[in-house]
Amino acid sequence: MISHEEAQRYVLDQVRPLSRIEVDLEFALGSVAAIEVVAKEAVPPFANSAMDGYAVRSTDTSDAPVDLAVIGTLTAGHATDQVIGAGQALRIMTGAPLPAGADAVVLLERTQSTDSTVTVQIVVSPGTSVRTTGEDVRPGDLIVASGTILTPSHLALLASVGVDRVTTFRKPRVGVLSTGDELVNNGALGPGKIRNANGPALRGLVRELGFESVDLGVVTDDEDELTEAIERAVATCDAVVTTGGVSVGDADNVRVALEHLGAARWMQVALKPAKPLAFAVVRDVPVFGLPGNPASAIVSFELFVRPALLRLAGRNDTNRLEVLATAVEGLPRARDGKTHFLWVAARQDDYGSWTVQLVGNQRTRQHAASANAFVLLAEGEGITPGSSVRATLVTYR
Ligand code: AMP
Ligand code: MG
Repeated sequence: MISHEEAQRYVLDQVRPLSRIEVDLEFALGSVAAIEVVAKEAVPPFANSAMDGYAVRSTDTSDAPVDLAVIGTLTAGHATDQVIGAGQALRIMTGAPLPAGADAVVLLERTQSTDSTVTVQIVVSPGTSVRTTGEDVRPGDLIVASGTILTPSHLALLASVGVDRVTTFRKPRVGVLSTGDELVNNGALGPGKIRNANGPALRGLVRELGFESVDLGVVTDDEDELTEAIERAVATCDAVVTTGGVSVGDADNVRVALEHLGAARWMQVALKPAKPLAFAVVRDVPVFGLPGNPASAIVSFELFVRPALLRLAGRNDTNRLEVLATAVEGLPRARDGKTHFLWVAARQDDYGSWTVQLVGNQRTRQHAASANAFVLLAEGEGITPGSSVRATLVTYR
């Protein structure tokens, strides 16, 4: 048996980011920038008012309160040729360009106005309530570094300097193939048949990462059929995930099929659940052979497939957030030479401290559904109530 860390490393070492692709900003969310973006424009592009108020010459306010003549009004999106002279003011709204002559804005709440006069009650200095040209971004500024995961804020930044396309790493299109003579997708269950639970689960896990999933359906345990199905899959997908048929049973032919197709490695991981794992790179496409047991398949995806898919998408850091938590109840375990993967409910109290508690019965399939974190419990006797343990958050529920 090998450790899960070694299996993770083995897989990650063989996975490289996909090709670069230029996409519209509209489709860039969640992608990783493949090249740096340097601003060619300034933000804001012109000096403008940061407040609703009056544009003034700051020197006019030194003996405030003072009455100034209002020579016009300007709202955002418009410009004026008017020049603010001594003793004059222009009513101005947030975002409107600062008129010539003015060097400050007095906020509306600090003024009183009649028809054509405004009483300014405060002294302002040059630049008060004015946003200067290039205050946020100057031409030449690096706004997105290569390797950045593009968030809505990055999209705002790019849009603000007129960039509407961005070069990213392609996101993987991930095929999911369920294998087993016993599987049916829908309709009546014949003798010995069960429903395909892993297909929807794994496709959901792929989509949760923001990637496209492809339903490759169900294929029987037949060696030739498996080989052909995987061959077809790698022709159209950037990664392929299969479930079932990777143990040591008579019908476990996925590992055999993978061996026909490429440099496959079959691993026995010191992990419970999810001990067997097959991995191969077939015509440059990583193929993951996960166990069929639904609880194992999800764990195997979390530890081995997820980091690899993120790497394909150009992510450098594929780790999830870990917190140090107190185990409310003990997490006892038997020595069996394996690391135990336990689904837990992690909660944070008002002071920021985390606790974890086992959810459900770890042997049933429902447990993962109500968990928001997991604990990898090292070989040993487990831990006693009140001990500290590292928990990995998988959602923020
Ligand atoms: P295997 O890894 O093929 O030995 O399968 C292990 C167990 O998981 C068996 O009881 C299978 O019937 C079950 N199983 C395999 N694939 C699926 C699937 N897609 N959905 C639900 N159960 C499955
Ligand atoms: Mg099977």
